[in-house]
Amino acid sequence: MTDKIELTNLSKQELEAEIVKIGEKSFRAKQLWQWIYFRGVTNFEEMSNLSQVLRKKLQDNYTITHPKIVTEQISIDKTHKWLLEFQDGERVEMVYIPEKDRGAVCISTQVGCAMGCRFCHTGSQKFTRNLTVGEIVGQFMVARDAYGEWPSPTDEVRYLSNIVVMGMGEPLNNLENVVKALNILTDNEGIAISRRRVTMSTSGIAPRIVEAMLKTGVRLAVSLHAPNNSIRSQIMPINDKFKIEEIMRACAEYQKGDHSRYITFEYLLLKGINDSLEHAKELISLLKKYRLRALFNLIPFNPWPGCGFEPSDKKSIEAFSKTLDAAGFAAPVRVARGQDILAACGQLKSKQPKS
Ligand code: SAH
Ligand code: SF4
Repeated sequence: MTDKIELTNLSKQELEAEIVKIGEKSFRAKQLWQWIYFRGVTNFEEMSNLSQVLRKKLQDNYTITHPKIVTEQISIDKTHKWLLEFQDGERVEMVYIPEKDRGAVCISTQVGCAMGCRFCHTGSQKFTRNLTVGEIVGQFMVARDAYGEWPSPTDEVRYLSNIVVMGMGEPLNNLENVVKALNILTDNEGIAISRRRVTMSTSGIAPRIVEAMLKTGVRLAVSLHAPNNSIRSQIMPINDKFKIEEIMRACAEYQKGDHSRYITFEYLLLKGINDSLEHAKELISLLKKYRLRALFNLIPFNPWPGCGFEPSDKKSIEAFSKTLDAAGFAAPVRVARGQDILAACGQLKSKQPKS
């Protein structure tokens, strides 16, 4: 075991304090930051504008770690999935979803998830632990390593242009680390992903929504999946703790006075459970009641072995989408990506069942 300090766990201010602590001028921290997050360098030896003495000091006391790749798969639609391993052997999955001239990296925030949503493969795996700041940031750095996108591109054309915090885990239950990690990922002198290109999805931890959004400045997505509490509680146990009304009030509070804060409501369509036109109408009344500026993202259910749910048929999905659209809520249907390699929404899982 090493007792060296992992630098990717530190905020910019903390890094600076650390550098000052070892007797260096604070601008050295800025140079170090650029090596780590603008150039993607992990080896202190390569940091040519730092003195030999400083490089040695860094080498002896600090580490810069990118998670280890255990396996990776590329889907027929080019979706790329990695199984990553951290220092203690815990693992998560990460996915890159390429579009024509851009793409989103879907990152995880926890090993497993305690929310236990019935339709989610990750939820069927027990919660193990929160990811550290460095483990969250490190995922994105692995994707950058894979696509050779170092140093950070300065124009708008990038393969890895967006981040969705929609992998394994409930980000608002690891808020402190997620906030720090997003601040690193969006820092202009480093990885420099624009905050408007980051979307964080929550299962609805109502009391933390406003705080999370104000501290990160990224876009909010809420996994709603039901128009009323009785259906939502059946499929999402967390709804017994935070009811729909509480989530809606938090969303309204977040939007108060700022019209640019559009919210995406994710809505998973499960056959015979939440996909009728009555449900769509109930949903419309709900959003109107709270005067939310929102759009829907309709997600066809991605099955996984032993899940016990069926996806809605195409016709129901289209009718559902049209009904919402006619009421003024855009409701595009999310195209499932990487299904052949179990990389689509809700299919991520880092532990295989023991046979
Ligand atoms: N834990 C967070 C973010 C990760 S999940 C959350 O729940 O919001 C990203 C999205 O995929 C969520 O809306 C989630 O509900 C949805 N999802 C989960 N299981 C799914 C499945 N089997 N098929 C399709 N979408 C799923
Ligand atoms: Fe956790 Fe999100 Fe899966 Fe629910 S849908 S179990 S909150 S990862």
